[in-house]
Amino acid sequence: MTDPNLVPLIRRAREASTHAYIPYSGYRVGALLRAADGTLFAGCNVENAAYPATICAERTALVKAVSEGYRTFDLLIVYTPNGGSPCGICRQMLYEFAPDLRVLLVDDREAIVYDGALTDLLPRGFGPASLPDNRSQGEDGARTVDTVDSTKKRRGNGRR
Ligand SMILES: [Zn+2]
Repeated sequence: MTDPNLVPLIRRAREASTHAYIPYSGYRVGALLRAADGTLFAGCNVENAAYPATICAERTALVKAVSEGYRTFDLLIVYTPNGGSPCGICRQMLYEFAPDLRVLLVDDREAIVYDGALTDLLPRGFGPASLPDNRSQGEDGARTVDTVDSTKKRRGNGRR
């Protein structure tokens, strides 16, 4: 049985899918990303006539969150009609900020078809800690270092 605390979150992920712009695939996706402080960000997939310009629901939610100053996340719920899994690009973008993310995949019955770690979806992922320490640090570099440091701290495998 589904954790009752998750039910409203699953509903919100599904509701987000109602805004999907999907004239080409017809594949409706909704995502709900929870920041460490509990703030929720919803996203849907937004397709484009130039197909590669399409953005997935998961990345929509992530870029909304990051653009509002949020960088740590603990939960992602993805709704698709058939319990589909995040694409590789989304797995990679999520790994940048939340390698320890818990991912729930739900389907039309609002049943959880997957409840696991992002690292199981993206084993041996490439993240900020994978880059050498002497990388260039521009205006955004300082922030990247913060992300790297917190990632290393959480995992307890930092070299510093
Ligand atoms: Zn994707």
